[in-house]
Amino acid sequence: MKILVIGTGAREHAIIHSLHRETASGSAAHELHAAPGNPGIAALATLHKIDPLDGAAVAALAEQVGAELVVVGPEAPLVAGVADSVRAAGVPVFGPSGEAARLEGSKSFAKEVMAAAGVPTAMAHVCTDATEVVAALDAFGAPYVVKDDGLAAGKGVVVTDDREAALAHGEACLSHENGRVVVEEYLDGPEVSLFCVSDGVTVVPLVPAQDFKRVGNDDEGPNTGGMGAYSPLDWAPSGLVDEVLTRVAQPTVEEMARRGTPFSGVLYVGLALTSRGTRVVEFNARFGDPETQSVLARLVTPLSEVMLAAARGRLAELEALRWRPEASVTVVVASEGYPELARSGDPVTGIEDAEALPGVHVLHAGTGRAGAGDLVSAGGRVLSVVALGTDLADARRRAYEGVAKIGLKGSHHRTDIALKAERGEVTVP
Ligand code: AMP
Repeated sequence: MKILVIGTGAREHAIIHSLHRETASGSAAHELHAAPGNPGIAALATLHKIDPLDGAAVAALAEQVGAELVVVGPEAPLVAGVADSVRAAGVPVFGPSGEAARLEGSKSFAKEVMAAAGVPTAMAHVCTDATEVVAALDAFGAPYVVKDDGLAAGKGVVVTDDREAALAHGEACLSHENGRVVVEEYLDGPEVSLFCVSDGVTVVPLVPAQDFKRVGNDDEGPNTGGMGAYSPLDWAPSGLVDEVLTRVAQPTVEEMARRGTPFSGVLYVGLALTSRGTRVVEFNARFGDPETQSVLARLVTPLSEVMLAAARGRLAELEALRWRPEASVTVVVASEGYPELARSGDPVTGIEDAEALPGVHVLHAGTGRAGAGDLVSAGGRVLSVVALGTDLADARRRAYEGVAKIGLKGSHHRTDIALKAERGEVTVP
């Protein structure tokens, strides 16, 4: 199959890596294209330089390369309606319409859909001026949770005990384009990410994963795009996936269909397992990064079959997904200064050495080529080191052996990815 993947991150590299594995194992013969891609993806796919936010350009490229499936990875093109342009050109596309992607593009819209669908989530007020923000902060009390209504590339949410900081973030959000801010109740308990693939009607859950949002060990420091992930979650309640399917994903997909804006693609359900039960923290309209790196490493069913079935409205015909029993751990290697001001342009070395280790592969995110063609850092999150192991302890050990091979001046990574889970210290209140 000719497949075009839109995006530049480690998530898109993970998708391409999975598709390439199908070809390498002989189960399929794909011709892979990516736009804009990155140096890691370039080893497995033909890169095309186009603006990923330009729907007409993406649709034209899809037709030009004869794509039989287009996968739109990141949220910004989805919210911009890129999947609509591709669909209008008659090419099957994995990813929701711009209207359906509002589940991620607008937190207040997601809350409205959750309320209509009866989905358990944090109580929230949508505020349009500072007086409402103050009233909402005081109504819920600390810890305060203040969210920009619109897309903010992982920087839209502040969770803090500091009322002044909460108010300042609220006021900053009010000054943004749509001028709305969501203030909500704090949810305690461990977080889980569950990707639910949908074709607009049928929902197929993948396996749960956990990610690590804060930059530092023990969840210290500011939020990031994600510093690591692992799967499976041995500590999670056994009925969790079924519960999320029947109480969250299926009702949401039905509500979106009822509104005439069916959701197809990945409904990323971010959950908190609180003392009062399972609650939705957020919806995203695409695969999450870095959880995708860990989840796809465990998927045995060809990813192309899953995505094509979703794109064609045929998920009900798909056989039950098959998974490797091994555990997978992903550790993100970030540039000096990330997430505040990430350094770029430093040489990146050691990827081949890391990949020579058993069970380890390395996915690119913020990498580029310098003048002489050398690999250099070109963004905050530079690489994802992914390892499969017999259990979490084994996968963790391998992932960190891989990280130790990577050379990048001033880089940093968390050393506690999956550590609590390995020690059996994650508890559901
Ligand atoms: P979001 O963009 O909504 O996923 O929020 C980013 C991160 O902020 C989440 O992954 C949580 O760690 C944290 N967060 C968001 N909402 C809440 C909440 N109501 N209570 C506690 N933490 C939250």
